[in-house]
Amino acid sequence: MRYSEFGKTGHRVSALGFGAMNLPGVPLNQAGDALNYALDHGINYIDTAAGYRNSEEIIGETISHRRSDYFLATKTNKRDYASAKEEIERSLTRMKTDVIDLLQIHYVNYVSEYKLAMEENGAYKAALEMKEAGKVRFIGITGHRPELLAKWISKGDFDQVLFHLNLAQPFALDELIPMATKMGMGKVAMKPLSGGFIQPVEKAIRYPYSQDVHVIISGMVSVDEVRQNLAAMEREVEREEREELESLALELGSHNCRRCNYCSCPIGVTIPDIMISSQVRQTFGLLPKGSGFYDKQKDKILSCADYEPCKEKPLCEEKCPYHLPMQKVVQESAAYYG
Ligand code: SF4
Ligand code: SF4
Repeated sequence: MRYSEFGKTGHRVSALGFGAMNLPGVPLNQAGDALNYALDHGINYIDTAAGYRNSEEIIGETISHRRSDYFLATKTNKRDYASAKEEIERSLTRMKTDVIDLLQIHYVNYVSEYKLAMEENGAYKAALEMKEAGKVRFIGITGHRPELLAKWISKGDFDQVLFHLNLAQPFALDELIPMATKMGMGKVAMKPLSGGFIQPVEKAIRYPYSQDVHVIISGMVSVDEVRQNLAAMEREVEREEREELESLALELGSHNCRRCNYCSCPIGVTIPDIMISSQVRQTFGLLPKGSGFYDKQKDKILSCADYEPCKEKPLCEEKCPYHLPMQKVVQESAAYYG
């Protein structure tokens, strides 16, 4: 596995980062085994968030005794100073640590939210104060609108940026990654499997591994999953394989959905999941998680064609900043049921 200098932080980070988001769903001893196995086998970047249920507490319980073995990244999704400060203090306590290596302003997708976080009494001020107090070392930002993130990071306020990059969502390559490189920032890609929708796993991991990022955060919950992810990064990606993966990403990303979640559906169709998996499904079929998703969504997807208020003008499409044809994609996905 590759290690690289993480922007201007002075840290040398492993290319595979442990995404702790799903740990609250498994028994504590299993979570602890997975985390400790990862640290024992060279992973030195742990990613969590205050909003991931008790994920921070699990980290505190299971690996805080070996704190110097990992770079610890968490997030706050608060936008105002007072609640962000309180949340950062809580994260320190929950993770049983004196210092958070990287505090990210979490899930900033709208200009209005960015402004709130950055204004005089915003979350950024709380992060900065904690940095001055030595409780936070670096500040980052995460979001699902790559072109907005590119604009925001160009102002020089952040040390790191976290974004989607996978075979079905290659959009960070256009403006965001070049801007982060220009700014000398830490570049972290998340969701290599696009939330479980992409297969095969090895190809899915090797795509972001072939690109100009420092860390790929993969959500893992067991020793077997850590092994599988590590195995996918054993070899470097050579030119021919990279070109193959890039052309696959062009095909699988042709839906153009950034998962910004601006859209919503009155009957509960989870539109971004359908958009993002649309081409993957046609090319590869789906992992069990993907099939389970389509089973659960069946009634809703089939109802879309008959939903009266959307007949003249699809309600979801009014909200999409990329003007995507969501109604058509949802209705086409009904063919999946035969
Ligand atoms: S067009 Fe279909 S998916 Fe879009 S809002 Fe209407 S019912 Fe929901
Ligand atoms: S369909 Fe459009 S609005 Fe909905 S998540 Fe995708 S990009 Fe955003």
